[in-house]
Amino acid sequence: MSLTSEQKAEIDALRANPNQTLRTVSDGMEKHLYSAIPVLDHGFVRVIDYMGDDAAICQAARVSYGKGTKSVQNDEGLIRYLMRHWHSTPFEMCEIKLHVKLPVFVARQWIRHRTANVNEYSARYSILDREFYIPAPEHINAQSVVNNQGRGDVLQGDEAKRVLEILKADSARCYDNYEAMISDDGQAGLARELARMNLPANIYTQWYWKVDLHNLLHFLRLRADAHAQYEIRVYADAICNVVADWVPAAYRAFEDYRMGAVTMSAQMMDCLRRMLKGETVEQENSGLSAREWREFQDMLST
Ligand SMILES: Cc1cc2nc3c(=O)[nH]c(=O)nc-3n(C[C@H](O)[C@H](O)[C@H](O)COP(=O)(O)OP(=O)(O)OC[C@H]3O[C@@H](n4cnc5c(N)ncnc54)[C@H](O)[C@@H]3O)c2cc1C
Repeated sequence: MSLTSEQKAEIDALRANPNQTLRTVSDGMEKHLYSAIPVLDHGFVRVIDYMGDDAAICQAARVSYGKGTKSVQNDEGLIRYLMRHWHSTPFEMCEIKLHVKLPVFVARQWIRHRTANVNEYSARYSILDREFYIPAPEHINAQSVVNNQGRGDVLQGDEAKRVLEILKADSARCYDNYEAMISDDGQAGLARELARMNLPANIYTQWYWKVDLHNLLHFLRLRADAHAQYEIRVYADAICNVVADWVPAAYRAFEDYRMGAVTMSAQMMDCLRRMLKGETVEQENSGLSAREWREFQDMLST
């Protein structure tokens, strides 16, 4: 992870000077505040600010005057009920603001989540750093033969070496040309907003990203899922760990009723009922397409 010594000193100074507040704080989240969690080769996620905790979800659900907590056990029961029944607005009462450093091709997937507030580093105003995502050898895979949107086996030997060399050489050459174009040494120098167009999608960008807990959990359900691309999944995994410390009861409910849960169609439920009655159900007599049948099998497999 690439933090300069000044940036590290700034974070240390912030952590060394706590403020007193009347607001609710989450002890689990306080330990994360400002610190950068490394992700990929140069990326990170760090919590800049947050609002609310598990009790705040219950407080909003009960529209309470005070803290609103009945008991920790009661609160957890309520949170689990709310999550189970898609009663989502109490979760929107908690918010988080993150500073994320990520490759541009990951940012393109991330930005599709529209229910957040974003402010990105300006490559019109500033010069981008010479930092490119180069996958570790164990994350250089062949195209999957079963899933057009996925990867297969890890590339080996000379082929892996050749791919890595191309990635490194292209990144270096593009950045050299970027620098050469913006340089005003003996020339006018191209505007930064134009020079950036030849930079590859593995260059790192940064943004502040603020989102409420309901929409964050939606993001995590999609991006911490095994079907998500590895390079965004590692960010989602890092955020999952933060959320587990911030709102532990809500995170447990999320794991049980979202991440660990499945959605079955009416036809799948019909197959399940017939199977429970002892009937032999195959794809041919299931009423499901071959793909749905495979997905149904996946749901039932341990
Ligand atoms: C594994 C995977 C593969 C994907 N592949 C592709 C792909 O090939 N091509 C592609 O283009 N995208 C792809 N996506 C992106 C995907 O289609 C969604 O755009 C992305 O996941 C954001 O989801 P969202 O709209 O639910 O999230 P958000 O934008 O955060 O929205 C959250 C929820 O708010 C509501 N909402 C937000 N904005 C609106 C609105 N304007 N109108 C109505 N309701 C709204 C919806 O209920 C939505 O579910 C992929 C995503 C995943 C996880």
